[in-house]
Amino acid sequence: MKIFFIILLVSIISFAQQIKTPLELSNYSKYTSYSEIINFVNQIDSASGLINCKLIGKSVEGRELVSLFFSNNEFGEDSSKMKVLIFAQQHGNEQSGKEGALLLVNELLKPENEYLFDRIDFALIPQMNPDGSEQNKRRNGNNADLNRNHLILTEPETIALHNLFNEYLFEANMDVHEYYPFGEDWVKFGYRRNFDEQIGGTTNINVSEKIRERSNNEYLPFIKKYLNENGFSYGPYIPGGIPGEDFLRYSTFDINDGRQSFGILNSFSFIQEGINGIDYTVDNIKHRAEGQMIGMLGFLTYIYENAADIKTLVHSERKKLINPEKDEKIAIQLDHVSDGTKLEYNLLSYKTNTDTTFIVNDFRPKVISLYDVTKPKGYLIHKDSLDLINWANKHNLKYFQFVKSTEDKVIEYFVNGIDSIDFEGDIIVNPSLISRTSEIIADENYLIIPTNQLYGNMIVNALEPKAMLGLVTYDKYKYLLKNYSVFPIYRLE
Ligand SMILES: [Zn+2]
Repeated sequence: MKIFFIILLVSIISFAQQIKTPLELSNYSKYTSYSEIINFVNQIDSASGLINCKLIGKSVEGRELVSLFFSNNEFGEDSSKMKVLIFAQQHGNEQSGKEGALLLVNELLKPENEYLFDRIDFALIPQMNPDGSEQNKRRNGNNADLNRNHLILTEPETIALHNLFNEYLFEANMDVHEYYPFGEDWVKFGYRRNFDEQIGGTTNINVSEKIRERSNNEYLPFIKKYLNENGFSYGPYIPGGIPGEDFLRYSTFDINDGRQSFGILNSFSFIQEGINGIDYTVDNIKHRAEGQMIGMLGFLTYIYENAADIKTLVHSERKKLINPEKDEKIAIQLDHVSDGTKLEYNLLSYKTNTDTTFIVNDFRPKVISLYDVTKPKGYLIHKDSLDLINWANKHNLKYFQFVKSTEDKVIEYFVNGIDSIDFEGDIIVNPSLISRTSEIIADENYLIIPTNQLYGNMIVNALEPKAMLGLVTYDKYKYLLKNYSVFPIYRLE
């Protein structure tokens, strides 16, 4: 019996080490194609007792979206474990996330990493955008940017991801990308970013402050050290501008990307961006894929080491969403401002090929509210608003038939003019509103979307007409906002 187990163990170990990823098999000469991924995943599925592969949806062009579920018992059943989700390659021309995810599969099959699954159930989606990937282009088969689609959820790929999320309510998640630091304006500037990995947490101030602090003060220093110890460099997630020409800030506060859309549910949520190749080819792909893999492994390691703590934090902060305080304020117009600190930013000199520290004077690391609303009990939508009901269903929002009680106050917004406001350099609508008690509606025609649910803060930001990140700022929903009319979504106070 004992000998049998030893033989079995040895054969599992040696088999696990034998399945090379398609990138390794090609000796790093080409990116893994969609069919190679499916092939690899199927092989792993039948070879490993740790991993179960499942179809979670299909792309626009009908390619399968696959998630690998790692668990040493029934996935999601043990409530003491952390549920962690990593998804890669929403942008098809950012290939190293996918390659790193496949390397991670093998890494996690090594006996020395088995311990992680004593505290973690882990779901991994190596490729969110197979249609884009096959053509090495950013967008999906509908020419939509998946990482701007997490609020309106019009694309099958993002819908599949959110369905998966809602099924398990992952407590920690990471969205894996690449960044491209080789643009012409940087060449002209003479310096460029050169971090193997840039990592950032959530920045929207409606996300739990405790989670944001924990992310910035503990996870980022941890992962920086972890990457460095494994031979990779770390930088903060500061997209965009050239120092001196533009101000610098920590990423967008928009809630339509992978990180922030789950972050606003008070998840421990991150983005990781590896450096792209100089011409979007396999340039330096071994190092890039390994850097992404180490970043993901570091995330799992941190979660393992802090599992009980993070779990308690996420659950207590989610409770606040489900039982909000009365008259809680929600920021719906925000801006980036300076807090007086100057950024020390390490850039690589094109001329000398060495790092140079820039002191960035116009650094705006702080997000503030420009305009708040109180969180109402809920929002009323008409039963004929199929578009909105469909949207609510895609987010798995709870809603009910509205029955007006005596203490309920229904407030309507009259749109008294439509102005504009700057949102991170884009000009978007900013209506002036008169809010007043509404008498006109018959309650049997209305559904209520209550705000005392996990999605509470998202709901307010999505449905308020003045919200900078709201549905009315999308083409699909701009019909909701009409001048000199009553806004068709009512507040229940
Ligand atoms: Zn990206």
